[in-house]
Amino acid sequence: MNPIYANLPTTIFEVMSGLARETGAINLGQGFPDEPGPEAVRRQAAEAAISGWNQYPPMRGLPELREAVAYHYKRFQNLDLDWNSQITVTSGATEALAASLFALIEPGDEVVLFQPLYDAYAPLIRRAGGTIRLVRLQPPGWRITREALEAAFTPNTRLVVFNNPLNPAGVAFPAEDLNLLAEFCIAHDAIAVCDEVWEQVVFDGRAHTPLMALPGMAERTVKIGSAGKMFALTGWKVGFVCASPELSGVIAKAHQFLTFTTPPNLQAAVAWGLKNSDDWFEEMPKGLQRSRDRLAAGLRAEGFAVLDSGGTYFLNIDLEGSGVDLDDRSFSMRAVKEAGVASIPVSSFYETDPVTTVVRLCFAKADDTLDQAVERLARFRRSF
Ligand code: PMP
Ligand code: GLN
Repeated sequence: MNPIYANLPTTIFEVMSGLARETGAINLGQGFPDEPGPEAVRRQAAEAAISGWNQYPPMRGLPELREAVAYHYKRFQNLDLDWNSQITVTSGATEALAASLFALIEPGDEVVLFQPLYDAYAPLIRRAGGTIRLVRLQPPGWRITREALEAAFTPNTRLVVFNNPLNPAGVAFPAEDLNLLAEFCIAHDAIAVCDEVWEQVVFDGRAHTPLMALPGMAERTVKIGSAGKMFALTGWKVGFVCASPELSGVIAKAHQFLTFTTPPNLQAAVAWGLKNSDDWFEEMPKGLQRSRDRLAAGLRAEGFAVLDSGGTYFLNIDLEGSGVDLDDRSFSMRAVKEAGVASIPVSSFYETDPVTTVVRLCFAKADDTLDQAVERLARFRRSF
């Protein structure tokens, strides 16, 4: 057995959702909305399954979807992408990450990662033979510094994986940080694999800037998106990879032997959605921002220290600042069983030297659910 996988624990998202199912706890752990997602888009998928083509679609994705992705990114992020040579459809962002990392890393290449990091990155990089160099981001601001990049980048740096907005921290990185990272990528001739699945889920009037849009970055950036996040349909697993024709070509070669393709009815529905959802893209983040504010205000009123969240479905609480004398994992394990609320310990997103005082909560839930969760967590906190 390959030790990279044999020694991996089951992902914390699966563990926590399993415990929530078992105990009947409110699940603010794994990130998924409890709303069903836009009905018109779901109807398109149903209609396409009944009346449309259900055999293998083209390996790089339905042309109508690839065109719609190019249209969407032009409209929302002012990117000029040629749908035919620069866009590949994958089975979720997870497959997009795997295809990109397998295609671009040669054994011995160094890959720069930012901690806290999404838990899929490190095992995929190791399996590709890459050597990981970590940059540590510190709460509460989680900002990128020149000193940290200087310590992580070396002459062997081949790639950097950059998640913006950052799960679990809820940071939408400011222009200053993007400029700094672009400067290092260019100076070290490194490729940036940008996991931008949360690009539509940003708050307080922010507009998402893709790293790809910065001067000198278009040719060296692989931009990854997820329809699951764009349309709040997390189970759909339709992802996109945007890159130069040269990078796209090799990534598509990896994709062809991971999944080859993605269910055509879902691709057709996403294509339709990207062309017909201006209202959704306007309203969805506003609704989530209201939910963020409701959960944050409820928790603060009960004495929890809540960190700022500028994007994603998540906010974090700081246990130390909340007067809770438990590490994050003990808190999450006890809260799901004793308080009836599932959460995610942020130490799960570290490879080394974890921050152990921060717990992630998902606010993409109905008001009642959030209110009840606050009540339960408050009672739990008072029990110490
Ligand atoms: N990257 C990040 C940062 C994520 O948060 C997620 C899922 N929440 C993914 C990738 C995976 O996306 P998908 O479900 O499209 O595979
Ligand atoms: N990305 C989701 C989260 O952060 C979980 C995805 C998964 O379960 N793999 O909650």
